[in-house]
Parts: sequence; structure tokens; C-alpha cells
Amino acid sequence: MAGTLQPILSYAKGMGWRGRILTALGFGLATEIFYEVYQHVLKQIGKRKAQKPFCEVRFMNRAIVSGCSPSLVDAKLANISYLISYIDRAQQSISLSMYILTLNDVCDAIIRARNERNVIVRVVCCESMVYNEGSQMRRLDEECFVRFKANSDYLMHHKFCLLDVDWLCAKCLVAEHIQQVGPPTSQQLQQTLFDRAILDDMEGLEKSFGSSCMRCDPTIRKSVSSSVSNPLPEGGCLIVGSSNWTMPALTVHWDNMMFTSFPAMVRPYAVEFQRQWYELSDNEKKSK
Ligand SMILES: [Zn+2]
Repeated sequence: MAGTLQPILSYAKGMGWRGRILTALGFGLATEIFYEVYQHVLKQIGKRKAQKPFCEVRFMNRAIVSGCSPSLVDAKLANISYLISYIDRAQQSISLSMYILTLNDVCDAIIRARNERNVIVRVVCCESMVYNEGSQMRRLDEECFVRFKANSDYLMHHKFCLLDVDWLCAKCLVAEHIQQVGPPTSQQLQQTLFDRAILDDMEGLEKSFGSSCMRCDPTIRKSVSSSVSNPLPEGGCLIVGSSNWTMPALTVHWDNMMFTSFPAMVRPYAVEFQRQWYELSDNEKKSK
């Protein structure tokens, strides 16, 4: 090694102190440029990767061998860590529709998103589960950042979460709803509150959801300063499955969870979440 360095050291000695300083500066500059280029390439790869739609299904009591930590505890909690890793990638919004949430660490991740990254958090849950032992819903409510909705008439049994999915204005929401299920008619036997509003209260819908959104006015889409290293794809992603967000459901139960960014999956859930938001928001509406 010393033999290899000898000619370099002799050359450096021969340069004099000015030459040595210039060489050091040049080396420093080259290193800096190389680092910047490397970071840029990494960012571009990350961006390209983030644009690709993905879909992954996990079965909760099936051991995931690849990428598993050697620790048994970590392996058992792998699904919870995976779920948290997604929540930690949200930069704009979290819309959670969940029957039961008891996982403290998951609740922490949601609170972290709100407090540290200014993510808009909306939660819909079932009133029947709010006061259940271990429920984290009260904690979310107490943090005063969640517009918390509950309904005791029927079970709110959904288990899905939307991350960074666009929040639609009334006009876009109705258009997408009609595209998915067809227009409501006054002859319908069972009309939902949302159907009724489409027929005779667009003003009320606009009051709830506004009259423009990123969908119809792209200028609203402000460039989100990337606060996470691996952002979610544009259009966001959906987490859905049979699992409630509880310890047994995510570790030992026969349960499943899907993570996907395919718009054909994400959009219906996004529209349904906004319908829930509207229908569960106002007790007066329910009694009408
Ligand atoms: Zn719109």
C-alpha cells in the first residue's frame, strides 16, 4: 500500500504548497459535484419509481420471508411496520375509514403526519367502537386535528385508508359519482343523502366540498415540497382489506390487506369516502 502511494506522495511534495492547496480544492469541488449528480440521479430514479402504479397484497398471518428481520418480534410486527412506512410517506392527505383502530404506533404515525408534515387528516369511524378498550379514536379526536365523524345508526364497518388522494370539489365529485354508479333519479326506492343532495341541494354540496379542486383547476395543485424521500405516486394510494388496525388483525388473524395505486381501485374509494364525509357530517341531515 505504502509502495503504491509513494509516487503520489512524491508528486505532491514536488507541487509546492500552492499546488497542493489547488489540488485539494479541486478534489473537494469534484467530490461535491459528484455527490450532487448522484443525489439528482437518485431523486430521478425515485420519481420514476413513484409514478409506476403498484399493487401488493399481504396476508396477515403468513410469514413474509424476504426482507424479514432475523428478530422474531420484528418479523411478527412486519405488517404493522409496513403499514406505518406507507403512512410516513403521505405528504398531502390521509383519509381513514376504519371500524377499529387500537394500534398506538399507527396512531403516532398519523399524528406525526399532521404535526410534522402538515398532512390533512380526516377520519371516519364507527361510534360503537370509539369507547372500546384500547381504541385510539379518542386520542385522534383529542389531538383536535381530525374532523371526526361517527354514526350509531348502522355499523361503519369499512377498513380502508387513502393516502395523498385528491379531495374533489362538489362538481367533480358528483361527476365522478355519476360516472361510477349512474345518475340518481327521483323514482329511486332508496335514496342516500348524497343522492338527494345531487338532485336538489348542489348548493349544500358546494358548501361542503367547494367549487373548484385540483381536478378541474390544475393551478391549485401547488408543487408539494417533498418532505419524504420516497413520495407516493401522483393520485395517491389505497390501503384496503379485511383487517381492522389492531394487533391481532395485523399479526395472527386470517386477514388481508392490499396496497395499491391503480386509479381504477383508488377512485371509487375516494368518492365513497367523500360521500361518507358528507352523510355523517351533520346530524340534522340524518333526521330530514
Ligand atoms: Zn373540481
